[in-house]
Amino acid sequence: MNAEIVIVGGGIVGASVAYHLAKLGRRDIVLLEQGRLTCGTTWHAAGLVGQMRPNRSMTRMSQYGIQLYSTLEQETGLATGWKQCGSVNVARTPERWIVFQRQAAMARSFGIEVDLLGPREALAKWPLLRIDDLQGALWFPADGKANPADLAMSLAKGARNLGVQVREGVQVSSVSKKNGFVSGVETSEGPISCEILVNCAGQWARALGARDGVNIPLHSAEHFYIVTEAIEGVHPMLPVMRDPDGFIYFKEEVGGLVMGGFEPVAKPWGMEGIPDKFEFQLLPEDWDQFQPLMEAAMHRVPALETAGVKMLLNGPESFTPDGNFILGEAPEIRNYFVAAGFNSAGIANAGGAGKLLAEWIAGGEAPMDLFEVDVRRFGAFAADAAWLKARTVETLGLHYAMRWPRHELESGRPQRISPLYERLKSKGAQFGSKFGWERANYFGPKMEYTLGRPNWLAAVIEEQRAIRNAVGILDQTSFGKLRVRGRDALALLERVCANRIGKLAYTAMLNRKGGFESDVTVQRWADDDFFIVTGSAQPVRDRAWLLRNRQPGEDATVSDVTAEWSVISILGPNARQLLEKTDIGSARAVPASYVGGPGSEIYVPVAEAPGLYDRLWAAGKDLGLRDCGYYALDALRIEAGRRAFGPELSPDCTPYEAGLAFVVRPELRKPPTRLAKQLLMFTFPATELFAWGGEPILRDGKPVGELSSVGYSATFGCMVGMGFVHSEDIGGTYEIEVSDTKVPAQASLKAPFAG
Ligand SMILES: Cc1cc2nc3c(=O)[nH]c(=O)nc-3n(C[C@H](O)[C@H](O)[C@H](O)COP(=O)(O)OP(=O)(O)OC[C@H]3O[C@@H](n4cnc5c(N)ncnc54)[C@H](O)[C@@H]3O)c2cc1C
Repeated sequence: MNAEIVIVGGGIVGASVAYHLAKLGRRDIVLLEQGRLTCGTTWHAAGLVGQMRPNRSMTRMSQYGIQLYSTLEQETGLATGWKQCGSVNVARTPERWIVFQRQAAMARSFGIEVDLLGPREALAKWPLLRIDDLQGALWFPADGKANPADLAMSLAKGARNLGVQVREGVQVSSVSKKNGFVSGVETSEGPISCEILVNCAGQWARALGARDGVNIPLHSAEHFYIVTEAIEGVHPMLPVMRDPDGFIYFKEEVGGLVMGGFEPVAKPWGMEGIPDKFEFQLLPEDWDQFQPLMEAAMHRVPALETAGVKMLLNGPESFTPDGNFILGEAPEIRNYFVAAGFNSAGIANAGGAGKLLAEWIAGGEAPMDLFEVDVRRFGAFAADAAWLKARTVETLGLHYAMRWPRHELESGRPQRISPLYERLKSKGAQFGSKFGWERANYFGPKMEYTLGRPNWLAAVIEEQRAIRNAVGILDQTSFGKLRVRGRDALALLERVCANRIGKLAYTAMLNRKGGFESDVTVQRWADDDFFIVTGSAQPVRDRAWLLRNRQPGEDATVSDVTAEWSVISILGPNARQLLEKTDIGSARAVPASYVGGPGSEIYVPVAEAPGLYDRLWAAGKDLGLRDCGYYALDALRIEAGRRAFGPELSPDCTPYEAGLAFVVRPELRKPPTRLAKQLLMFTFPATELFAWGGEPILRDGKPVGELSSVGYSATFGCMVGMGFVHSEDIGGTYEIEVSDTKVPAQASLKAPFAG
């Protein structure tokens, strides 16, 4: 048998991918389900569907889902149980209330209908609510709920109507490959040859991927809700209600309530592997694990004290190391796509994620900026089962955890450490983690989470001053590093990179739409040997991009050498003198500064890094040398207008929009006639409640974008930020909306620090 596309998994996600591929005109599709449709996790989900996500592109995705769910029944004739009942989210603590105010501002900026309610108004929407300890509530009228199994069946029917073959009772055991591409699958009913494979196997996705060397880091956890008997006053259009400070949610079901939640200390499951025959099955009740949620629920909804409980449902769901789902083409095998690890939001996200993945498959590239969910954001560090288990204890709770600015996950750390780690730790480094690496954020007191002026600010101001006035030293070992070698290495790089490749080049890798796939520095070590330095989170992504652009027969290898090289940066006016005074041995010093002004990045074999660090310190004492961390670096790069991949540069943004036309070699430059958005730099006074990123940018009082990056500048004594303004016309009066306060801002295409 053969098919163009094989989808593994008949849960809501597989059904949605099939539906959307068929909508794009693909007809030769087979969806294989080992049991029966929805029998995995989908059948027992609660069915809450919210639309607010932490950023513009993800929110657009969920908004599409709601639009689809509200019209699908008309199209397929199969009911979905969709009800646009709205959702009320209540805040117990003053800090949560501030977060809600910030969310409301962001939601308006994203074009979502939202209202802030006082406790009494919340009670009017949700009459069973206890309100005496509430600060207020957030009301999303367009949110809703659906019946997950019906919704999945409706999507599957829509796919079938368009020609997709759905085969139940067929298990996929492995994937066959040819020249690094998918060529077929082995199934319980024999082989099927295919060109494209989509792994939508839910909590089975990791094991299925691992059989073919594909890393899909997710882990199951037990996940609970109760269903009550009918309660007076509970009606079908009762809004969904969430009380994140109690980690709980409520929705109406057959006149009673479904109440579930996200306990902060979760209970991982499936350590011995997920059984194949886990069809329409549940796990045993665990009232001890559910107790904190039950207590919180009885507090919030006193009617629960007397309501009969029909059942405590315990079903496993898969969670990822950062709480975001996993989407896209796996870097290990061409045409092997993944949509899995939905962190108990698979019903809400399936519509949008299915559409995006279908567009990705059909178009050959991610259709928009999907960095947060991209499968290439993980590396080998996330493949270890014991690590995943430890992380899952924490990530399930992230769903309702307070979103403190600069929040760091704590479990499974330290994981990847630089050879300077112990030295920096002994000097008071406070670490954050990125791509598994421990990185010094700053040197000073342990971080206390706050929405206001942080306890680390004084330390970071001193670090900024050292870099602007003397010299700072930073461990940047976490930089991603790739080595491209071979007769055709130069040809490959010249084709993939927008800029000319000289001895040292800052350049971009652009996609077909002209958007950034990455921004990198290329060092030419020999005619056939290049060293690429990229962001800490980008080596897997960039390596995959280079390999997919290598032409058949081309002689160029691309290896990830991140772990072989340390990077020590010395930044500031005294950096040159420090370099001259220090014996750097076999290390390579490259003139570079991400913060503007003089500086060098020193590339040194890992084993030699501690010795070099000590020598730099011995030579630098009289030059005002100071250990610095990533918080200072970030604020300084913002004031110097240096864009970062992720916040500013993304597949959705062109060099012109980012104000980086110079990264494109002159003969390739095609200035557009109009720009859909432009990156502006802002300065504005620091307020008591700090700006942390994501704040709406107002032009003449109207939202036109959000801050992508922001920090406190010691040089200017104010906040510095940047963000895209979604408009061709950038004239006008600007304000930044910081937690309900409109702060006047100066806007410019030029960075405040010109050094
Ligand atoms: C208690 C609970 C409450 C929830 N509440 C909500 C909610 O309110 N809102 C929300 O958005 N989400 C909710 N969720 C999450 C939601 O249920 C999941 O995110 C979603 O169902 C995942 O869908 P899926 O298609 O990825 O996985 P699944 O539904 O598990 O589908 C994967 C399918 O792949 C099949 N399969 C696996 N391996 C193979 C193979 N080798 N060959 C063939 N077939 C294979 C499996 O049999 C399975 O049917 C909840 C989850 C739980 C547990």
